[in-house]
Amino acid sequence: MEPFPVGRASFGPSRPAADELWRRAVELIEDERADVAGRAVSPPVDVEHLRTVIGGYDFARPAPAEDVLGAVAELLRTATVHTTHPRYFGLFNPTPTPLGVVGETLAAAFNPQLAAWSHAPAAAEFEAHLLRFLGGRLGYPAEAVAGSFTSGGTEANHTAVLLALTRAWPRYGTGGLRALPGRPVMYASAESHLAWLKIAHATGLGRDAVRLVPTGPDLRLDVSRLAAMVAADRAGGDLPFLAVATAGTTAAGAVDPLHDLADLCRDQGLRLHVDAAYGGAAALSDRLRPALAGIERADSITVDAHKWLSVPMGAGAFLCTDAAGLAETFRVTTSYMPADVPDTVDPYTSGMQWSRRFIGLKLFLSLAVAGRTGYAEQLDHDAELADLLRARLAETGWEIVNDTPFPVVCFADPGDGTRAHHDALARTVVEGGRAWISPVELAGRPALRACVISHRTTSADVEELVRAVNDARG
Ligand SMILES: *Cc1c(COP(=O)(O)O)cnc(C)c1O
Repeated sequence: MEPFPVGRASFGPSRPAADELWRRAVELIEDERADVAGRAVSPPVDVEHLRTVIGGYDFARPAPAEDVLGAVAELLRTATVHTTHPRYFGLFNPTPTPLGVVGETLAAAFNPQLAAWSHAPAAAEFEAHLLRFLGGRLGYPAEAVAGSFTSGGTEANHTAVLLALTRAWPRYGTGGLRALPGRPVMYASAESHLAWLKIAHATGLGRDAVRLVPTGPDLRLDVSRLAAMVAADRAGGDLPFLAVATAGTTAAGAVDPLHDLADLCRDQGLRLHVDAAYGGAAALSDRLRPALAGIERADSITVDAHKWLSVPMGAGAFLCTDAAGLAETFRVTTSYMPADVPDTVDPYTSGMQWSRRFIGLKLFLSLAVAGRTGYAEQLDHDAELADLLRARLAETGWEIVNDTPFPVVCFADPGDGTRAHHDALARTVVEGGRAWISPVELAGRPALRACVISHRTTSADVEELVRAVNDARG
């Protein structure tokens, strides 16, 4: 094999040299997949060493690709929380499907530009097809689905606020918030994902405009409290415009009462957005789909593909049935952008990004090859493993403190309910390298949180987690 050229020549290697580079890359990827389960989930990190090695690259001299790849892989192995580990029971970060990784690679290599449809008809049509499929499973009429792939849930939620403001006040787009007859306020539960605060900051609504509605003991948004808050805000001269339901909260997997919220929003003239960044995946399983009943009544929905749909980051989706509203929100024309093609939508006019990568390909490949039913089996399997985890924890003296159809298990030590104790337990488990879990607080109550999110997790991994938390408790 030819060595990979260094310096400027590395931009255009010969075919044999490129093949050799890919052989090395594939070897790294497959070695990682084979070996990660044998390593500590969260290795201790030597920051000094990390900075010395990385700082050693001053880019003054070109370096052989083989050396650089080897050094990068070594640091990724030793200084990363291994979210691809079968005992990563953590936040909603999945082990990506191999086809997702291939999709990411092909998207990078072909590098289609998804700003204008005319530059990337294939990529744009693949994505539109996927959005119709997802929207259809969520209960929207598939042919009416509009939306966009996003960097993640935060961008999709940001889109929801922009569309809601644009629809609620046609003058908002040109005149801004100052053109409105008062201060717009929005509502989400105290258990919602607090990206809402960043979004309120960025849109100019201001963080105080996000009203956090208390939850009941079930950690679901309390709709009667919401109704009272809307009335009080109106009486105080504010302008309620949007309620957010979370379908699968980050801490506890709770699903807000979607039908009740939709009823209230209809009666009060509020828009409803459902943040199903994590839980939306359940739409692919006939068994889990009922947990999302009512989601189809929302004005818009967020689903992340890089969570429970197991594709590499970043891949989110914003879905609605208001193509005209979306086009109004992101409308712009320039002299240099290619003209639009009749009967197509330019992605840069349905989302905030302009130049955009082919986000949907990794999901398309994963879904086309696993099939919807392959995904459903995996989702159902994760839910069954969580049932096993709940049962084993309860048997060994833990109290399960959340109620969710999804595989998010929150559990507390009835012997010592303090935050310090639960923090220490999580730290002991993580530092022991046997599993990754996190401490959490649910409506002020300290607990531990374990989410089955890797498709590589087995019942043996669940048993090992149970042993690890029991050993930590002593
Ligand atoms: C993860 C998450 C978000 C944020 O999504 P990102 O993809 O991390 O930007 C928002 N809402 C919920 C419910 C989430 O779980």
